[in-house]
Amino acid sequence: MQSQQTHPIIVAGGGIGGLTAAIALGKKGFKVKLLEQAPEFQPIGYGIQLGPNAFHMFDRLGITPSILRFCNKPQAGIMRDIMTGEEVTRLPMGTDLEQRYGRPYAVIHRGDLHEALLETCAALPNVELLTASMVEKFEDRGQHVIVTMADGKTHFGAALVGADGVWSAIRSQMNPSIVKPQSLGYVAYRGLRTRAEIPSDLFENNVVLWAGPGYHMMHYPLHSDQLFNIAAVFRSRRFARGEANHSGPDELKEIFSGACAHVQRLLESVQTDKHWDIAVMEPVPSWTTGRVALLGDSAHAMLQAMAQGACQAIEDGVWIAEYIAQSQGDYESAFVAYQGHRQLRTVRMQYQSRFYWEIYHASGVYADLRKQLLTRSPQEAMESLSWVYEKPTFPEQMEHQGVGIENLSV
Ligand SMILES: Cc1cc2nc3c(=O)[nH]c(=O)nc-3n(C[C@H](O)[C@H](O)[C@H](O)COP(=O)(O)OP(=O)(O)OC[C@H]3O[C@@H](n4cnc5c(N)ncnc54)[C@H](O)[C@@H]3O)c2cc1C
Repeated sequence: MQSQQTHPIIVAGGGIGGLTAAIALGKKGFKVKLLEQAPEFQPIGYGIQLGPNAFHMFDRLGITPSILRFCNKPQAGIMRDIMTGEEVTRLPMGTDLEQRYGRPYAVIHRGDLHEALLETCAALPNVELLTASMVEKFEDRGQHVIVTMADGKTHFGAALVGADGVWSAIRSQMNPSIVKPQSLGYVAYRGLRTRAEIPSDLFENNVVLWAGPGYHMMHYPLHSDQLFNIAAVFRSRRFARGEANHSGPDELKEIFSGACAHVQRLLESVQTDKHWDIAVMEPVPSWTTGRVALLGDSAHAMLQAMAQGACQAIEDGVWIAEYIAQSQGDYESAFVAYQGHRQLRTVRMQYQSRFYWEIYHASGVYADLRKQLLTRSPQEAMESLSWVYEKPTFPEQMEHQGVGIENLSV
């Protein structure tokens, strides 16, 4: 246990980023209090992709085996034209990618990932998890922070980590003038089916993206191939025209009527009772003030086109603990250094995700350009992601090389 610590470090939000930060801090001996607004820890019940970069972080925390036991390893990431079915590009995801980056590309049910992270937290006696605890505001008193909850209760903390997602209350208090996330006019429908519900000719152990003009479909199997995860996303034309009745299942069908027969059959597996609005956020200039810092979607929510939002939240969780541990109680300097280390990498991720989003949804001549841009060998496709997937250097390796943590490049 960190001997100089009188108050715990408070983590607001028990999503993937908050739980990772709690583990990373807990394993370094800090007292941690995690406050989650929901009555229980329950992520939405769909799949999530984890690049090798997430596993480098799990390695750092010593939890890779507990995550891997739930993972599927797809063979390839394939982009196909949604109208013709023609293959546009392919990223090897099996042993080739694992050998290149030292860790696999994997897919996992969000519930399983949460379970593995929660199990690890529960085994750390210095990590306290509280549900039904909605953070409303904070006050930085210089030597500590006071966090006030929606029910009026207060918690004292040595520092506050805002892992409270894209609509972050902590970010709003920290940067009141910042523009809130904006709806893109796109919505996502999802489906999770058992293996038996999917006709065998539609089932494949790949991450498949069917790219089309203003709409796409994505799918992959989960849970040792027992489940099939599917998402259908489109830009609502009715929303763009300002119509009130937009983005419903009838518009989903209307837009996907241009897709090839294979995709039309897959569309039957999408659940139409619920959909999610897709919002986009500009980079947040400042992630920290005094003893308070942001991580994950609260700092850098991104479009899901690179499947990196959660992976980046995991990286943040690990790195914020590294900087706090190095700072010997100087949280302010730790958070400034943490932002310096993380910000441009995540902004690049946000920017590139927007670019890929455009690529996915290209039409006409832009779709021809997409084909030209993505014509490359599997090796080139793998190398293009080296800045995302490569293993980073951690502090003690850097000290060994005579490099200070504050000078680490991303
Ligand atoms: C359709 C879709 C597909 C995606 N696919 C992928 C993928 O394949 N790979 C990937 O890496 N990423 C993916 N992402 C992105 C990923 O889901 C997010 O980036 C990630 O969940 C962010 O984690 P987080 O912990 O920062 O925030 P969140 O997961 O949003 O967690 C925030 C937590 O804070 C809690 N909270 C909120 N406000 C308060 C408060 N005031 N007080 C206390 N608690 C609070 C919330 O209840 C929640 O539990 C996808 C996103 C979408 C929409």
